[in-house]
Amino acid sequence: MAGAAGHRPLLDHLHHARDGEPGHVEAAMTASIDIAGERVVVVGLGASGRAAARFCAERGAQVVANDSRTEVDGLEPLVAAGVELSLGGHDPAIFQSANRIVVSPGVPPLAVVDEAAARGVPVWSEVELASRFLRGTLVAITGTNGKSTVTSLVAAMGEAAGLPAFAGANLGEPLVHAVGTAAGDRGLVVAELSSFQLERVDALRPKVAAVLNVSEDHLDRYDSYAGYVAAKGRIFAAQRAEDHAVVPADDEVCLGLARAGAGAVHGFGPGGEVRIEGDDLVDTESGLRVPVAELALTGGPNRLNACAAALIARLAGIPRAAIEGALRSFGGLGHRMELVGEVDGVAYFDDSKATNVGAAVAALRGFMGRRRVVLIAGGRDKGGSYAPLADALREVGRGAVLLGEAAERIRAGLGDAAPLRAAESMEDAVRVARELAQPGDAVLLAPACSSFDMFRSYAERGDVFQAAVRSLDSAEVNP
Ligand code: ADP
Repeated sequence: MAGAAGHRPLLDHLHHARDGEPGHVEAAMTASIDIAGERVVVVGLGASGRAAARFCAERGAQVVANDSRTEVDGLEPLVAAGVELSLGGHDPAIFQSANRIVVSPGVPPLAVVDEAAARGVPVWSEVELASRFLRGTLVAITGTNGKSTVTSLVAAMGEAAGLPAFAGANLGEPLVHAVGTAAGDRGLVVAELSSFQLERVDALRPKVAAVLNVSEDHLDRYDSYAGYVAAKGRIFAAQRAEDHAVVPADDEVCLGLARAGAGAVHGFGPGGEVRIEGDDLVDTESGLRVPVAELALTGGPNRLNACAAALIARLAGIPRAAIEGALRSFGGLGHRMELVGEVDGVAYFDDSKATNVGAAVAALRGFMGRRRVVLIAGGRDKGGSYAPLADALREVGRGAVLLGEAAERIRAGLGDAAPLRAAESMEDAVRVARELAQPGDAVLLAPACSSFDMFRSYAERGDVFQAAVRSLDSAEVNP
């Protein structure tokens, strides 16, 4: 399984990039592997598990697809590819004969899997599997918040350089879908990785790996905050001296994770190589300088995200002109600090993706010195502290409207930080927020909780919020 982890020149055409900067990078290839004839058990048949099962079957493995559910959608292509199904539990017999196990991120700890691991059976996540077959430049991005935004922006920078680029993994398509594509063979693969995916990596070796930040999240799944942080740090574990580890320059926790790996450590943000200086985003190394007012990505923590992406892209060999072009054109993803419109001089922002306290705090702080904010928060509680939210509300809050299962816990955590009101539904919350807001204020949906108590997803929650805003009298909304 060790395979030759050789190096070869990549992205040769970057030598001819517009501004003539050196764009040559070496691929950080992960040990590759042949799975033909192996017995592979795939546990958890969500999108990435199904993709992994099919991927292995197409490469000649004997695959058993396993799930505790008896009814699972989308299994026909697996059956057609020769995958055997084992549903409704985790039959120990299938694990006894396994040569390899692929576990999906949503699967809770299982004794059968732990026992197999103790016998020496490799237990991988789908991203580890995919990484064994990728030949392009692998960039991997984790962190509590900002992953999707930075992943998408780095991929946009690669595309601006004329590279085949793939953005996926925790975001969008499973990583195995990059294998065999132009991006996966000779271009840029940007993988957003969650802590759950990182629990099961081994030789996954990104040329550039980043931990954007860490704050409390998913304490409903991790025994401790330390366990969650340690999982994030695994992104650096297989890196070598010629690889790059990217973290916020002023964050000792993230710096500690980066220093534990063998890659060269690079910082962004205050005190870092790429940072905001006065009114500009600057990269002292490449000479990049873009006025903040001309960045397409605005709001909340997005300046930091822009700095992170510019640094990651430079280290991946992307030329300065392409980085600058994407900084000027990539406007961000939906439901992340998305301006919905203005009603009576009050701006309404949809940050439904702020599903933890850290994200909601960053969104609130982004308004500091500019607008006072009526926060709409609440949903399904994740077990962390709401004290940082109270501090941020004291600084910028006009008030807060609380809804969902977590409302009472949040109320207790916020205390007297701002006037608090209750709401029964999202429509109700928008009405109450409108009453609290004054001209020049912002109303911000940044729930600090997951959406599953009232909605199917953060996206549905954001859509309902946006529809409620659009139905307010005299709304001037974005098209
Ligand atoms: P992720 O993929 O990590 O969930 P997203 O890019 O989807 O990240 O953003 C999720 C939420 O996190 C957004 O609602 C945004 O307000 C917040 N956020 C984005 N970037 C940061 C950051 N650098 N620090 C703190 N919060 C952030």
